[in-house]
Amino acid sequence: MTRSISKDDNNETISRQERECQLAKRLVRADIKDMIPYQSARREQSEGNIWLNANEAGDQQSISVNFEHLNRYPDFQPQALIQAYRDYCGVASESILATRGADEGIELIIRTFCRAERDSILICPPTYGMYAISAQAHNINIEKAPLIADMQLDLPVLASYKNRVKVVFICSPNNPTGNALAMGDIEQVLTLFADSALVVVDEAYIEFCPDKTVTHLLAAHPNLVVLRTLSKGFALAGLRCGFVLSSPAIIEQLSKVIAPYPISQPVAVIASQALCKREVMYQRVNDTLQLRDKTEAILKAQPWLTQLFASHSNYLLFRATNSQSLFRFLLDRGVVIRDQSKQLGLTDCLRVSIGNAEQMQHFFDALLAFNKVYYQQHNNLTRQDTL
Ligand SMILES: *Cc1c(COP(=O)(O)O)cnc(C)c1O
Repeated sequence: MTRSISKDDNNETISRQERECQLAKRLVRADIKDMIPYQSARREQSEGNIWLNANEAGDQQSISVNFEHLNRYPDFQPQALIQAYRDYCGVASESILATRGADEGIELIIRTFCRAERDSILICPPTYGMYAISAQAHNINIEKAPLIADMQLDLPVLASYKNRVKVVFICSPNNPTGNALAMGDIEQVLTLFADSALVVVDEAYIEFCPDKTVTHLLAAHPNLVVLRTLSKGFALAGLRCGFVLSSPAIIEQLSKVIAPYPISQPVAVIASQALCKREVMYQRVNDTLQLRDKTEAILKAQPWLTQLFASHSNYLLFRATNSQSLFRFLLDRGVVIRDQSKQLGLTDCLRVSIGNAEQMQHFFDALLAFNKVYYQQHNNLTRQDTL
């Protein structure tokens, strides 16, 4: 009796879940039903305690927040925040839109400028995954102009898409390869698509190479849109704050589609504070770049390293003969990096974010331990050779 009751309960639960599933599947758009969601570093990761997989900063800063006025809606675009970002980036307030991270900027551009089932975006893989995910979520076609030698733009292939796409996404420095794209190439793409498409330059990592910014091209190119974020150089990934920089006319169109109060009041206060204390950011970026140099030198000395990609950002992409066993070995020691081997042209590639000195030491120690286990013989041979 007891057994049959619990079995019935079980059946009931299963059939309820089943019913819920069927309803959701019946109502959802057909193209969303089969969509695979973005595997963010945070979603993917279930183990480890040294997080070097999401290009976040290794340390946090002290922040004080005044939680007054929470009974009131915030400004649509908090004035102090926009002014603080204007003073930082040198672009006029009318050309700035604050968003919930650069990811919202990406989605907003697609929603505002692309028609479902009719328009296309152009991406340059291997690149950041959210351009394609946002396009898919709105049933927009995705065209591809893969990067070529040295992970730079393939201009002839890009040109072949003239009048066939609405938005071109360029990531510079590019995630996950790390390199900035040639300024002259970006200018050519802007000219190429001058009358037919927006060219979005994602500068999420620009704090690590400020001289590579294209903001000075905004005045001459009305089709340029620059994406920025406080998640990387400013070490505020948990805050969710980014910016779209473009002509006031483009900003005006995006403003029609964005949520009515995208930036909560505490977010505006914290972001303004961080933007006004920029020396803290500059110091952290400097420390990160020094640690990146050290990490580069250590990676270059590894017996299994077959390629180290040039980086203008806070992470390094490298190719290893034994990428999967290395990835697993690090994970078993709590060091989480990112496997990029499924990306176009990046077989056997891993990406490590540059954390703080202590976190990087864990990474270096784990590499040493890996070599002890797998390269004992190799190490012995080298030692004997040099003796
Ligand atoms: C991290 C990242 C983003 C997302 O930034 P958020 O402001 O945290 O949404 C956008 N683009 C690239 C290339 C990134 O690496």
